[in-house]
Amino acid sequence: MFDPASKDMKVVHIGFDDTDSQRGRCTTNLAYKITCKLKNEMDSIFIDYPLLVRLNPNIPWKTRGNGAVCLRVKSDQPEQIIEYLLDTVRRESDLSNGANPGVAIFAGEDIPLALRQFSSRAMYDVIDIKETENLASQLSIQTFKFGEGLGIIGAVASIGSLLECDHTYEAIAYRKEQFCGSPREIDRSKVLKINTDTHPFTFNSYDSIHDRVLVTPHGPDPVFCGIRGEDPFTVIRALEYILPIERLEGYMVFRTNQGTNMHLQNDLSIKKLRTHNSGYIRCFVTKRPTIIRGGHVFFEVSNFNNNKYQVAVYEPTGLGKLASKLIEGDHIDIGISVSKGNSNGSNVLNVEYLTILNIVDEVTNINPLCNKCRKRMKSEGKNKGFQCKICGDKSDSKVVVTNSRDLQSGTYLPSLKAHRHLTKPLHRFGMEKTYPYLPKIFKPLNSEWLKSF
Ligand code: ATP
Repeated sequence: MFDPASKDMKVVHIGFDDTDSQRGRCTTNLAYKITCKLKNEMDSIFIDYPLLVRLNPNIPWKTRGNGAVCLRVKSDQPEQIIEYLLDTVRRESDLSNGANPGVAIFAGEDIPLALRQFSSRAMYDVIDIKETENLASQLSIQTFKFGEGLGIIGAVASIGSLLECDHTYEAIAYRKEQFCGSPREIDRSKVLKINTDTHPFTFNSYDSIHDRVLVTPHGPDPVFCGIRGEDPFTVIRALEYILPIERLEGYMVFRTNQGTNMHLQNDLSIKKLRTHNSGYIRCFVTKRPTIIRGGHVFFEVSNFNNNKYQVAVYEPTGLGKLASKLIEGDHIDIGISVSKGNSNGSNVLNVEYLTILNIVDEVTNINPLCNKCRKRMKSEGKNKGFQCKICGDKSDSKVVVTNSRDLQSGTYLPSLKAHRHLTKPLHRFGMEKTYPYLPKIFKPLNSEWLKSF
């Protein structure tokens, strides 16, 4: 007889990643299938929602959004779970098209500090597979590699990601295999309605500026749509409201770090920047922006150590016009991803958000105004002063004027279409969850978090 309170029940943390390829499949869909099996057929008790952890978005070998999945369960048959899991990942991954899956298993109630620190770094740094394997063996984390097995990096990192404070939820609905590849028919008026009615408790469902529905992807993958928001109840209700006529496989709620800017918490102001890092720096503008063809804007900044960096604001972010108004001395805070510049190989900081902290006065020296004629005086030659050509009045020096600056302090985000999964929408600033999420304290999950149709 199955007894959830039995001493034989073990807490098992399961991470997996890199099961899909550019051509198809989807790690979250695999997570849905595995979760259905574990919950419905293997008596596993989920002690947390399945986690969809978005890791450093600047990893060059990622497929799309660098998402890894972690399932945390209590079970009295961990060996059978592992056997099923490995068999399923092997069968259901897109190995022939370049997926390099990795699975990580950790048994125990508490997640060790070293593992949590590893996961924090995976949010902003590039981690080596050897380092991952070393840590795994030190902490008795079992890892399993398929193909080149790069997925163990994300798999291990997902287990160490507790998403203790700020986090969000996404309810993702999956298509039946026979419909994958066909257009997704969705009632846009319903999407507009949930976008209005559930604001600010759902986000990124609709882009009103470009009149685009955002809940459905466009590729051949099995995701029909996803609703992102602040709590499981709201995302489930909103998802059920927009469900299509097409018969779906089911849906599942993930707890995620999407919409939290978690990759940008790392202060790179005084650190040595490495290509593919994510983070933020506080700096001063040292060279005015130039705009190149295509509307991309480049300028130079300097941090407190007087290191100089080239900053790029690319056109699709929609921040170019604003950035082009910066001048030397402006104090800014920028969320960045570090990439290799083309011309001389030095790093370029690609802007993910721009906060203007302080704007300096812009002063120019201009020829003095004639008090009688109200006309600008003309220069009489170098160091010879100025004279009014109408009345002959003279003046010794230019006058200093302060130009008005068409720029306000504040935080500016890229347009919605340029958002990453991790980008925190403007309205979430101030809405962050600051209380710890404690999966150890048994808290039942919303009863409808997993549904098969
Ligand atoms: P999708 O979003 O469609 O699930 P993806 O963008 O997550 O796909 P993957 O196919 O999972 O892409 O590939 C990401 C790869 O990068 C994985 O092998 C993962 O282990 C690895 N990876 C993730 N984070 C890091 C990191 N910080 N350093 C090095 N490698 C990483």
